[in-house]
Amino acid sequence: MKSGRKRLWLNDPTRYAFLNFAAVFLVMGLAAPQRAPLRIAVATFSHETCTFCPEPTTVADWEFYGPPTRDILRSGQGYIGGFKKICDEIGGIDLIGILSPRDSRGGSSGSWLTTEAFDKYSGLICEDLKNAGHLDGVFLALHGAMAVTGVPKPEAELVRRVRKVVGQIPIMVTLDLHANEDRELAEAANAVFIIKRYPHYDTTLIGEAAARVMIKTVRGLYKPTMAVRKPGVITPSVFQGTGTSPAMEIMERARIWECEYPDAYVSVAFGFAYADVPDAGAVVMVVTNNNQKLADRIADDMSDYIWRNREAFAGKKLPKTQEGVAMALRAANMGKTPVIIADHSDRTGGSTYILEELIRQGAKKFCIATLRDENAVREISTKFKAGDPVTISVGGTSDRYAGNPVTIRGKVESIGKYGRDSAVVLVFGDDNRVILTPVLNQVTSPTIFSALGIKLADLDIIVLKSRVHFRRGFADTGLVKTIIEVDAPGWGPADLSTLPYKNVPSTLYPLNLKKEK
Ligand SMILES: [Zn+2]
Repeated sequence: MKSGRKRLWLNDPTRYAFLNFAAVFLVMGLAAPQRAPLRIAVATFSHETCTFCPEPTTVADWEFYGPPTRDILRSGQGYIGGFKKICDEIGGIDLIGILSPRDSRGGSSGSWLTTEAFDKYSGLICEDLKNAGHLDGVFLALHGAMAVTGVPKPEAELVRRVRKVVGQIPIMVTLDLHANEDRELAEAANAVFIIKRYPHYDTTLIGEAAARVMIKTVRGLYKPTMAVRKPGVITPSVFQGTGTSPAMEIMERARIWECEYPDAYVSVAFGFAYADVPDAGAVVMVVTNNNQKLADRIADDMSDYIWRNREAFAGKKLPKTQEGVAMALRAANMGKTPVIIADHSDRTGGSTYILEELIRQGAKKFCIATLRDENAVREISTKFKAGDPVTISVGGTSDRYAGNPVTIRGKVESIGKYGRDSAVVLVFGDDNRVILTPVLNQVTSPTIFSALGIKLADLDIIVLKSRVHFRRGFADTGLVKTIIEVDAPGWGPADLSTLPYKNVPSTLYPLNLKKEK
């Protein structure tokens, strides 16, 4: 029998139970503490080693600009800056800066790292990770072309040492596209990501990609699954610019794969031919979300594509010193200035072949930016002042391929600083200049001229110790009219068959041609 009075809504048992549940969830939500932030450690240890260069890279080089530091999370740019940006955007993530070495002095002009230096910094990183408390993941911003005496594949070895300390949490690595790596690194790390542009415009973007995959992986939404291939091709850096063919098409193909499979990360490193190491040469590294078949398919395709393009990639020729300088003079006489001469093969920074040839051919309004000569910089800085006449021998001492010292009779135009080092400008002849620096300076932007009081408009020919990086500040900004890559003698030649390799496999194209001849 139905009671006269309306039943309370709440008296319905189903509704009552539902309300109870809702209340419990609400209280849980309000009272439960925030989900504990993820804790991700970040470290860096990065070097591109020119093993043919004469001077080893020691602990003193790594600490010239200061001791190792935990203060590595400050920049909003680069591999770590990009990683941090995404973590900040997503929120709820604590990044822990791990004690890491700074840049080594002279960068890529340094030869083999000493075993002591490698052990010291990988040891510091591991020790700091051990003391970092609970960690959910480790991000390592590496280079991939480090060469260490007694340690064949140092990046893989570093990750293995880190793994011993942190256990089975995700370890993710970013690399420069000059990396020489193979499957050992992929077996040690959970995922590897490599930039796609040279000049290196996309370091921030690849840091961002690494962060997204790291966070998804830690939350169980992604299972990194890698495939690695070595196409068997080795190329000089000067042919690797991604604004030129076929480097451009190789990276475009990787991007097409990534568009088709947005969960896949398709990386190619062209390698660094001036490190005489067993894993030298190009490498393809593909990361997918738990799809080994897809990773293998993409890696096979990319590797085959690089192999098919090997002749266009590794078999180009460049003008030698005399011819290249004559080309530069012709361009300058036609008013196609400024002309850039890329002295691409000078890996130590003190080579004088092009300076000598410019003087011999009567060039005017040229500037060598820069010539490495620590002694000359010291002598001028201590004994001279701006405006003083000077006769001094410069360059030709940085390695046995650096040519002859050249005597400059002129005056000291200025004594200043560029970057972290001192710089001296000498002016001589027909409005010619040489900028002297104590270490190799790969000038990538024209800011050096304004910093040292040189007007760009006063320069017809600029000689840079750079291969492709300079394009960022000089060519991609539309600043220069002519670029001439000159194959002067040096430890970074375009013809790799001239290098006395001991560890690089002779089966790599084009080194295998030498054998067949
Ligand atoms: Zn690089």
